[in-house]
Amino acid sequence: MSAPVPTLFRRIVVALTAFLAVFGVAVTAHAQSKVTDVRVGVHQGFTRFVLELDASAPYRLLTLRDPYRVVIDLPEVAWETGDESAGKVAKGVIGKFRFGLFQHGVSRFVIDLREPAVVKAHFRLDPEPGAGHRLVVDLEPSTDQQFAAAMGSVESKDWASRQSAVAAASQSQQQSIVRAPVKPTEQAEKRLKTIVIDPGHGGVDPGAIGASGIYEKKITLAFARDLRDRLQALGGYRVIMTRDRDIYIPLRRRYEVAHRNEADLFISVHADAHHTSDLRGFSVYTLSETASDKEAAALATKENKSDILAGYDLSEYDDQTSFILLDLAQRKTSEASWQFAQSLVKNVGSNVTLLRRPHRFAGFAVLKSPTVPSVLVELGYLSNRREEKDLRTPAYRAGLADAIIRAIDVYFEQQDRLSRS
Ligand SMILES: [Zn+2]
Repeated sequence: MSAPVPTLFRRIVVALTAFLAVFGVAVTAHAQSKVTDVRVGVHQGFTRFVLELDASAPYRLLTLRDPYRVVIDLPEVAWETGDESAGKVAKGVIGKFRFGLFQHGVSRFVIDLREPAVVKAHFRLDPEPGAGHRLVVDLEPSTDQQFAAAMGSVESKDWASRQSAVAAASQSQQQSIVRAPVKPTEQAEKRLKTIVIDPGHGGVDPGAIGASGIYEKKITLAFARDLRDRLQALGGYRVIMTRDRDIYIPLRRRYEVAHRNEADLFISVHADAHHTSDLRGFSVYTLSETASDKEAAALATKENKSDILAGYDLSEYDDQTSFILLDLAQRKTSEASWQFAQSLVKNVGSNVTLLRRPHRFAGFAVLKSPTVPSVLVELGYLSNRREEKDLRTPAYRAGLADAIIRAIDVYFEQQDRLSRS
């Protein structure tokens, strides 16, 4: 019943499994069942996508347009077949696919379609000799109108009950992530500056892919943890992370963490990739309607795609959270963001290489808090072998984190002086 196994994809999986084994990359710590294989087969009139699991799992299917995507949600599962987004299969209607944690309790596959296609059939198969539990999704090429008419979500009968069971646990877990780890007395807490560190990408959105194959989402999380630990060791700062595990967070939710916690500073951490492989250096970006240059505009477009890559339904954003504030507050925030960016350029430059014109600006969605001074840092270029290696080295990351901490200290001293004068 199951489709033939594409040998090239198998080879990619084997190679990447070996890579992951060497570098010991953990995928999901809290996972229960496991995905053991992914297969794509082209049949007469349809493309078959098969997930093999070690246990039967409830599922939900979702179709999204602009671009055409099919999303498969499962309870939180581990990925046993190697690299999470190695699925550059380009077979039948399927372009490529990604896998990762979408939210607490939900793992997600996002399948990019090469052309519009509708779900012709979806079903589960019990194990039989030579095959485990399987989830089968058949996709049939369609017109755009047919795709639009069929858009929406379908789920297995056991999906809803399973999801409500994990919801309570997920909620308490999420709260523990956005809470500051050290809880000082109320008065001491008021004196502490709150810094929200936002490790870019995560879960189903891997971000840029480095020269040796490392994912941006892993570098950003490793660096954010270094920065948090070093800031906390110094005292004087309350540090909150938007994520502390390999999970996708919608862009707007990231700055809402800063807003909700009345943060004094929001730092979104990224690492870029570029087709020019000798390009390297640290850079910092602030929000602006008009971009400083073409490269900054292109970078913002790329970083803003996170929600699309993760198969996030943008209509889920509710309007209640949109901010209406006086221009004055926004201008003050944007000036402060600018000053912090300048402090970064001055202080980071003595520790690491800077990109030419290291402070640039563009319309980054994650920097849109009207009240919290916000910057996005690109730690360096993962497409540059040397810089990728640097960013994987704890000692290099520590030096960079210390330079950023110097910039933070200088920035807050300046702000305090300004508010006193
Ligand atoms: Zn990024």
